[in-house]
Amino acid sequence: VLPKLVTYPTSPAYNSFVSSYWSQLEARITPDCVVSPANAHDVSVAIKTLTQPYLGCKFAVRSGGHTPFAGSANIGSGATVNLGNLNQISLSSDKKSVTVGSGQNWGKVYSFLKPYGLAVAGVRAASVGVGGSTLGGA
Ligand SMILES: Cc1cc2nc3c(=O)[nH]c(=O)nc-3n(C[C@H](O)[C@H](O)[C@H](O)COP(=O)(O)OP(=O)(O)OC[C@H]3O[C@@H](n4cnc5c(N)ncnc54)[C@H](O)[C@@H]3O)c2cc1C
Repeated sequence: VLPKLVTYPTSPAYNSFVSSYWSQLEARITPDCVVSPANAHDVSVAIKTLTQPYLGCKFAVRSGGHTPFAGSANIGSGATVNLGNLNQISLSSDKKSVTVGSGQNWGKVYSFLKPYGLAVAGVRAASVGVGGSTLGGA
């Protein structure tokens, strides 16, 4: 399932992903594999697969990876689902709303909107993810 989207320990893409967490506490956790969906359909396939009872697989979900504590958006014994490729940004034709992928960060959203003379209330730090901060923030 989704073989081209799964990376394993020792691969450069895996190491680059794990080391990119904002917190060292999260970056020290090494998942069994990282699944990086390219679109919403891939996310659906990944989650349906990971939740098959016969697998008994635990998983974590990461957007921007800014949680300061360990085990929020990464997991030691299981799979981490990396939403970083879900990073689309699009402005509605009436310029009244913007659609942003969960894996995008706020800095890119601000940069995208600036030429239009528009802004959105996100968070202070540019690299914080849209997904986690929208769900809870701090
Ligand atoms: C330097 C810094 C500055 C900050 N500034 C602000 C601020 O100004 N205002 C503010 O409100 N907060 C701020 N925060 C807090 C920040 O909003 C939260 O830590 C937020 O959860 C980070 O989101 P993320 O996507 O980057 O993190 P992640 O660690 O990727 O995700 C956070 C949590 O949400 C879950 N999650 C993420 N995306 C999804 C999804 N699509 N579906 C289901 N679960 C998901 C993850 O599993 C994880 O448990 C700041 C944090 C830092 C480190």
